[in-house]
Formats: sequence, structure tokens, C-alpha cells
Amino acid sequence: MSARGQRSEHKRSNKEMDDYDIAVIGAGPSGVMAAWKAASAGSRTILLEKEENPGHKVCAEGVLDSALTDAEIDPTNDFVSSKIVGAVLYAPDESKKVDVKGAGFVLDKPRFLSILAERAKSSGAEIRYGATVDDIRRDSETVLVSGRKGNVPYAVRCKIVVGCDGVASLLARRFFNRDNYSVVAALQYDMLNCKIHDESRLHIYVGHHKAPSGYIWIFPKGHGEANVGIGVKGSNAKQLLDNFVRTHPEMFSEAVIQKSLAAPVPVSGEVTRYVQDNMMLCGDAAGQVIPLTGAGIHTGIAAGKIAGEVAAKAIAEGNFSASRLKEYQDRFDAYFGGRISNSLKALESFEKFSDDDLNIITEYLEGQDLVDMANGYSPTRAISLLVRHPLLAMKVAYQLLTS
Ligand SMILES: Cc1cc2nc3c(=O)[nH]c(=O)nc-3n(C[C@H](O)[C@H](O)[C@H](O)COP(=O)(O)OP(=O)(O)OC[C@H]3O[C@@H](n4cnc5c(N)ncnc54)[C@H](O)[C@@H]3O)c2cc1C
Repeated sequence: MSARGQRSEHKRSNKEMDDYDIAVIGAGPSGVMAAWKAASAGSRTILLEKEENPGHKVCAEGVLDSALTDAEIDPTNDFVSSKIVGAVLYAPDESKKVDVKGAGFVLDKPRFLSILAERAKSSGAEIRYGATVDDIRRDSETVLVSGRKGNVPYAVRCKIVVGCDGVASLLARRFFNRDNYSVVAALQYDMLNCKIHDESRLHIYVGHHKAPSGYIWIFPKGHGEANVGIGVKGSNAKQLLDNFVRTHPEMFSEAVIQKSLAAPVPVSGEVTRYVQDNMMLCGDAAGQVIPLTGAGIHTGIAAGKIAGEVAAKAIAEGNFSASRLKEYQDRFDAYFGGRISNSLKALESFEKFSDDDLNIITEYLEGQDLVDMANGYSPTRAISLLVRHPLLAMKVAYQLLTS
């Protein structure tokens, strides 16, 4: 923009306040869905994103089919890097592995988010990229959201603000209780020239020596390209990931690291309340991630979708109170809440098993049961499969029931 253009925008933003029904902060999976649903229901909606394009944050980009079903979008080569038919979970000593079925995709997430953002725009949402939110204030009836686009200050007044602004969410830090919110560090290499023997599956490696309280992933994107990463408690993610790459020359001896990026993943479950008067919190900001897997794209999509629908209904009714907006929390909890808390229990249990225990667990459990435990469907179901190893079964049961 020319200096003159910048000056006139500056003058305009100082002079007048833009009014909206709903302001969504952040164009990640939850934000693009919230903006779409709110705008398509007729609410005057703005989506504010600090980056110039969506999808800046590092991600392994893996989703199951059901995530796209909830996003109401058919998979196309425009945003799908590769199709996945399942996953392989390797025991700590790698002598055993469990095959897990499950159709899904490794996305090109920046493209995916751009397409979903365009859909929101076509439904009437205004999208402002490069617009960092610096301040949020609530008065009796409305919320004032202000920030900078480049060096130019702007301010937006709205009736409902939806915080989809990720782990470091300003809205969450200012207005919500996140006392129990905790994250693990995740580091990922985008690699080329890998030799992955089966590119139609995700590859997951567990073990306290490899990845304490976490795991290493290889998500193939096709033609030797892969997202190779680690999520761990503690600070030595790089050392552990480098060690894994070095000790697997069959896959990585000729591989090249194209990009290396790190970001936190919330693993402590949802925050207790994610609505306030005039305010809603979605996705990572609200801790809506499946703790054992660190997967938050699907939960974010579902949360944003429900929040956008409920916010638009609240606007139509002229009631922006927490009690009206709570429909969002109730619907999300009914859909995902139990799975998040069960997965949290499973994560806390797995942390207590030794690598030897995990080697045995990998041998005795069926693939689908591991997935069910990881996704928090029903941790108790898996216990029955350990009858051939009663001592370990008791230990698993004890951990699951006491964590
Ligand atoms: C290394 C790694 C690998 C992962 N792999 C997977 C995976 O394979 N599958 C999966 O399901 N999940 C994965 N996740 C988790 C997933 O990325 C997140 O759970 C998901 O992106 C959360 O979506 P969100 O919309 O809540 O927030 P985010 O995707 O974090 O988006 C937040 C948006 O808000 C913007 N923003 C932040 N602050 C401001 C501000 N002040 N003003 C304006 N804009 C702002 C950011 O720029 C960003 O675009 C991974 C995470 C990491 C770190």
C-alpha cells in the first residue's frame, strides 16, 4: 500500500469504528469454520488473522475422513497431499507393530484452510489477513477488538467475539480460566527424499527412550515427502528427533530437511468453561485437542462449526449472554467431550508404563483398540483383551481407573 493509502486507512480507522455482529480471531481450522457458519446464517461477520495467509503454523496435517465430513467438504487434489488407509504403531523395541485401519488424509493444510476461508468469504464473511489483534475490551453490551494491520491501527466493535487464536490466545488469557492448561513441545521436519516402505499409512513410534510421554510420527505426503516429527514433555525434542532420524538410515540416509518448525500442543483437556457473556473460545485456545494423539484439526473444525451456528442464532435472538452461548459448550461436549477426557486418562496411564510394558501391550492389543484408547472412545474395552497377560491387565486397569 502507498504511504498515502496507509495514511487514509489510518485516518479512517481512527475516525470510525467498524461494527459487526461477530468477530472471529484466527483463521485456523476452528476460525474458518466459525466464520463460515456465522456468515452463512446471516450474521455480519469478520475474520481477523495475523498472518498474511492461513496455515502458517506447523502441523503434521493428518486427519481421518470424518474430519472432512464435519468440515462439509469433499476431498480433492487441491488440498489433499496423500490418501491414507491406516496407521502402523511400532513398539518401543520396534520388533512388534500393530496395524490400524482407518481411512484419512495427509492434507496440504495451508491450501485446505485457504479454501475454507474463501468459502466463508463467499458466504459473506469479511476476511482481514495481516491483522493482529492486540487488545480486547468488553463494555456492557459489546466487545471492542483492536489491533494493527501492518502499522495501521484498527478497531472493530462486535456483539460476540469468537477466540480461535490458538494456544497463545489473547481472548483465553484475558477472559478465561486456563489454570490447568498445559502443552507439550512438538517439533517437525518437512523432509524430502525419504524412503518410506508404505506411504499409504501413518507411522507412529512410541517409547520413553525415543519420545518420553509422547511419540514420533512419520506422515507420508507421497513421492518421498513426509512430515517427520516428535511431541514430547521436556525440552530435548530436537535431540530425540535427530537421534531417531540417524538411527533409521533405511528411511532417511538420503533425506533432506526442507523446513524445521516447532509449536506447542495442548494436552490437558478442555478448559472448564469456554463461553462467557459475548465470548466463545474454540480449538487449541480452549484445549479441545485429543490429548494422547495431539490431534486438534477435527475437534477444532467441530468446535468452530458449532460455535458459528450458535453465535448466529444468539445474534438473531438478540441474546449474547453466557447462558445463551452455552448451547455451544453443551453440543461440543456431547460430541467430543467424553473422548477428550477418556483420551486424557489414557495418556496419563501410558505415561506410567515402562517400555517393556508397552512392548507387551503392543503385542496383545488389537490395532483398533489402541486407536480407540488413543481417541478416547472406550479405554475399558481394551483391558479385556489383556486377559492373556493378567498382571499387565491389572496394571492397565489400575492406571486407567485411578488416573
Ligand atoms: C507439530 C504439530 C503437529 C500437529 N499435527 C496434527 C495432525 O496431524 N492432526 C491434527 O488433527 N492435529 C495436529 N496438530 C494440532 C493442530 O495443528 C491444532 O490442534 C489445530 O490447528 C488447532 O486449530 P485452531 O483453529 O484451534 O488453532 P490454530 O490452528 O493454532 O490457528 C490459530 C490462528 O490464529 C491466529 N492468531 C493467533 N493469535 C492471533 C492474534 N492475536 N490476532 C490475529 N490472529 C491470531 C494464528 O496465526 C493462527 O492462524 C499438530 C500440532 C502441532 C504443533
